[in-house]
Amino acid sequence: MTTLFISDLHLDPSRPQITELFLRLLRNEAQQAQSLFILGDLFEAWIGDDAPGAIGTAVARGLSACARAGTEIGFIRGNRDFLLDASYARSCGMRLLPDPCVVTLTGIPTLLLHGDLLCTDDLAYQRFRAGSRTAAWRESFLARPVAEREAFARQARAESQRHQQGVDAQITDANPQAVLDMLRLYGVPRMIHGHTHRPAVHELPDGDRRYVLGDWYTQGSVLRIDGSGWNLQQL
Ligand code: MN
Repeated sequence: MTTLFISDLHLDPSRPQITELFLRLLRNEAQQAQSLFILGDLFEAWIGDDAPGAIGTAVARGLSACARAGTEIGFIRGNRDFLLDASYARSCGMRLLPDPCVVTLTGIPTLLLHGDLLCTDDLAYQRFRAGSRTAAWRESFLARPVAEREAFARQARAESQRHQQGVDAQITDANPQAVLDMLRLYGVPRMIHGHTHRPAVHELPDGDRRYVLGDWYTQGSVLRIDGSGWNLQQL
């Protein structure tokens, strides 16, 4: 049986071929898999479950067909789709998982997370993250009209791009000590995350290992776990 991990698809009307690549995965391999884990930033932006848009609607249809075929689907929110909530998850037939959480894969307890929690050197981002994850922020944002929320998302994206370009690449990567601390905190030897768009398998002290999923801007990045092992591949 196969378990699939993906993240950072950043689905957006400007890249229809990437949405199509994902829907194809859902129609084919994902339906045969035992489980599919989506580790955040499935969508480039998510302004609330009441406004899924054409892509959100097509994705819900694809995911729920996959769930009906028997695949267990788990979702961890990313920094772009942190407002995705129970109502949309229900329409997809997927389970919302806490960030981080531990699952056992091929007998190995493994920490799953989006990955932004590990970027502890990016103080500006961590400040925004803390401020926007409160119930009060969420309620007041979701109460605003859709057009206003869309404008906010556009502005946040532009600011994030400026920020990424303005700071050293190391600042926006996972902090090595934060990685080790996180593994120790949960007492597990392995983690899987996305967010940094730097796909790799990192060997850590004591045989520990960190799998980093890649983004889906030009192709798909998938971690497949099956009888042949743990394989980080491209679609
Ligand atoms: Mn991210």
